[in-house]
Amino acid sequence: MSNVAVYRLASDWQKALKKIPEHIRCYVKEAANSHKELLASYFYASLLNDQAANVFLSHDEVQKRLSRSLQKWLSELFSVAPDDDFVALVELQRQVGDVHARIDLPLYLVLSGARLLKERFFEIVQEEPSLELIDKMAAQQFIAESIDIAIEFMSRAYAASYDRKSRAEESYRVFAAVHNSAAERGRQRAALLDWENNLMFELATGMVDKQLSTINSSEFGLWFHHKGAHAFENLKETQVIQNTMEHIDQEVLPRFTQANSANQLDVLRELRTQTRLILLSMDLLFEQQNEVEAGRDTLTKLLGRKYLPVVLGREVAYSRRRGVKFALLSIDLDHFKRVNDEYGHESGDAVLRQFAELLNAQCRAGDYIFRLGGEEFLVLLVDVNVDTALRIAKKISERIQREKFILPFGHELNLTASMGLALYDGHPDYTPTLRRVDKALYQAKHAGRNRIELMT
Ligand code: GH3
Ligand code: MG
Ligand code: MG
Repeated sequence: MSNVAVYRLASDWQKALKKIPEHIRCYVKEAANSHKELLASYFYASLLNDQAANVFLSHDEVQKRLSRSLQKWLSELFSVAPDDDFVALVELQRQVGDVHARIDLPLYLVLSGARLLKERFFEIVQEEPSLELIDKMAAQQFIAESIDIAIEFMSRAYAASYDRKSRAEESYRVFAAVHNSAAERGRQRAALLDWENNLMFELATGMVDKQLSTINSSEFGLWFHHKGAHAFENLKETQVIQNTMEHIDQEVLPRFTQANSANQLDVLRELRTQTRLILLSMDLLFEQQNEVEAGRDTLTKLLGRKYLPVVLGREVAYSRRRGVKFALLSIDLDHFKRVNDEYGHESGDAVLRQFAELLNAQCRAGDYIFRLGGEEFLVLLVDVNVDTALRIAKKISERIQREKFILPFGHELNLTASMGLALYDGHPDYTPTLRRVDKALYQAKHAGRNRIELMT
């Protein structure tokens, strides 16, 4: 959501609030604060009956944390006065929406949760002996309005965040399926033009009566069906290429056999147009792929931070589906600044490149290695338990200590690294695991560096 949009919506909310009589606001605020625990437990008890909701809420930690955040949310939502800072309140809704998007919580569950809260809160108002009927109605309207506006903000943030996530996922998939896109693009362009040339040759040598080579069975066609279409699935150019290839084989090629020499030229022209359309679409597909390569860190060619949410999201889903764990290993080179200070920035860069190679060699093909920034790296170790994760971490640490880092001008250097390790805990949101691994690294630094700290 843009800042302007946030500001406008916040001011709408403020205006709505100004219409609520002071004593109604005060009553609702107090009722929300004194009943927030009851409301939260009613909310969870009801939602846990729902099979779909159960997947998100059954985790102990979720219940503890979400119950706390729900109570805080209720309290802040109804404590706001017309002259307060609405931008902060709106920001809170945005954060909640982001979390929902991160854990893939379906929107209908949020809406049904909101309905449950309203229902229960209405009952509380109804049972209040000190309120006139007309005040009860006003209080209920205030409650409904506040919850609805908050949910509207949340949904906006959810949608924006979900879009971002889908785009990153899309580009990551393309990236994962087609490596080294520049070479692939050149090869496939050549293959397509080869097929076209070959067809011209067949036509020129009067093979029209025999079978002409179809594009679907050409090298380009095979690549596209087996790799390209998969890598670029869901992009509209993929559909264009598939339709065009069908059109060429089904419509255009048969017309050569029916054509006389006068209109053969028309058919040739059409063929050329269709082939250009495929080339153009393929260029567009590969250009989108370049965006992905831009997500790779240019110095080390490791994954950039941008892909962390995508990869973590997938691994969380995989882990929850299959019941296997992954671990995060955070690695920070010790006193790296000294390398720059003593030998220059270029030497620092060389060390980082060599270090990335070392990590690549030490990790398994299924693991993911990120450069989060500077001299800080994160490895996602797939399919591990605490023991295997620790063993891998130790192996990497020993390997680093033994490595001779080669600097320009013939210098060599030994380095150490501090590491934090955390095993994924089954929580549908991966951020708690990220926080634990951060903390572990921090402890490793504080305990004297060149060591591994495990945070359970
Ligand atoms: P610590 O043991 O506490 O981690 O100390 P440190 O010196 O490694 O950590 P600090 O965070 O103080 O300094 C990190 C340095 O990394 C600062 C910066 O000069 C250097 N650095 C960050 N990115 C790059 C890079 O891309 N190339 C080079 N050559 N140096 C970098
Ligand atoms: Mg460091
Ligand atoms: Mg650092």
